[in-house]
Amino acid sequence: MKVIVIGGSHGGYESVETIYETMPKNTVVNWYDQGDLDLVVNWSKERVDDAKDVRHMTNEALNKNHINLFSLSKVINIDASKHCIIAKNLVTDEEIVDYYDKLIIATGSDANKLRIPGTNLDRVMTMRGKVGINKVKQQLHNAQIKNVIIVGGGYIGIMAANMFSQAGKQVTLINGSQQILDNYLDDDFIEILMNDLKNHQVDLELSQQVIRINGDTTVASVETNKGEYLADMVLLAVGNKPNTEWLDGIVKLNSKKLIEVDEYMHTDLEDVFAVGDATEVRFTPTNEMKNIALASNAQRQAKTAVANLNSNLQPFYGVQGTSGLVLFDKVFATTGVNSKMIESAELPISSVLVTYDNLMDNVPDSFRTQIRFKLFYSNVDHTIKGAQILADKDFNEIINTISVAIQMRMTIEQLAYADFYFQPQLTNEWNIMNIAAQKALKKTSND
Ligand SMILES: Cc1cc2nc3c(=O)[nH]c(=O)nc-3n(C[C@H](O)[C@H](O)[C@H](O)COP(=O)(O)OP(=O)(O)OC[C@H]3O[C@@H](n4cnc5c(N)ncnc54)[C@H](O)[C@@H]3O)c2cc1C
Repeated sequence: MKVIVIGGSHGGYESVETIYETMPKNTVVNWYDQGDLDLVVNWSKERVDDAKDVRHMTNEALNKNHINLFSLSKVINIDASKHCIIAKNLVTDEEIVDYYDKLIIATGSDANKLRIPGTNLDRVMTMRGKVGINKVKQQLHNAQIKNVIIVGGGYIGIMAANMFSQAGKQVTLINGSQQILDNYLDDDFIEILMNDLKNHQVDLELSQQVIRINGDTTVASVETNKGEYLADMVLLAVGNKPNTEWLDGIVKLNSKKLIEVDEYMHTDLEDVFAVGDATEVRFTPTNEMKNIALASNAQRQAKTAVANLNSNLQPFYGVQGTSGLVLFDKVFATTGVNSKMIESAELPISSVLVTYDNLMDNVPDSFRTQIRFKLFYSNVDHTIKGAQILADKDFNEIINTISVAIQMRMTIEQLAYADFYFQPQLTNEWNIMNIAAQKALKKTSND
């Protein structure tokens, strides 16, 4: 069998790796990326001829295993009737026609650009892919850069704010809404994180729209509808859009231009699968198809696609949009729904907020950490629908546990007394998940 994989990042890599691990050894993989695969793929530093996984294989070992790299080759068309793709070598301009038995599209997404003057000035950057991220990281040590303006208060924006602030830069974060992270977290958590940013001298300029970026050849300032801010560098972190323009009219896309896939990762074209940021993904708490751009999703979808290359064997169970981040002194994570989603879709979902120490109060203060935890549950059948956590240390496995609970349609009744271990040196008397579910049960019985 011959499989063509388009895209060398998380979705593409996991597809190739899973083909290598699970398909017959004579399977041929032709692997395309418009970027340089040597840079796009997160190759190990120690690549050897007898490697057991693709990431560690030398080019000779890849060839021996019938994995052929097509770097700097942009796929521009699919002719499904002939089972072929058409790619353009971006160095030579040569067109390549390549035939597949199965095709996996993992073309991902790109950073949104703002349609305002000045985005083409030097040092106006976006952060996408390994290459893009490295370019931004190089600026951390650029002494000419003192004032960094970050536009966008989502995950990427605050991650960058953290990074540049820790590198000693003066960071201003501009966001259109009045809070940061408001698509991910509730106010009870956002306020703490905003204070954390301010305590680390990150200037938050909220509720304002960037209208222009000024400069001669290099950026000098950023203008919003409320003010002007000096800038030696600007990072635009205003969301992402799927790399699917080339597929319009070829593969079925939804209204957000995401590739429509079924539970086996099939597109509407025979023998054509799609995975990753370019696709819609089932969000289990509400059973909707959504745009949730996460590497963790891409990897799981890729494994599923490969499992189903020959026949429908393994459905994709969906995701809860589980994610987490360290921001200066805080660690937070979230899974499933949040209050903003509940309000906008008028979902019958309630929540309880709990703060609880990780250890009992007879343990010295210096060993104890307060955990803030919010649990969301359905008012209709009491199934768990979401959670958020924040602490000074990493307790994010709690969020992974809740993610599984959502997927398995666990109820607050089941979670209230679920079996979590107790050991005085390591835990408090109850697990915070038990406490929250017990509080939710009490609330439902009072309603
Ligand atoms: C700064 C940053 C930090 C992140 N951190 C996390 C994290 O901690 N955890 C997490 O789960 N997610 C994280 N993400 C999100 C994660 O990076 C994406 O969800 C993931 O990369 C998606 O993988 P993908 O393979 O679908 O697509 P992409 O990573 O977008 O890769 C698509 C690839 O396809 C290639 N391509 C596109 N079109 C064509 C074409 N026509 N022909 C040939 N090649 C093409 C591109 O060159 C690219 O290499 C982060 C994102 C950013 C920007």
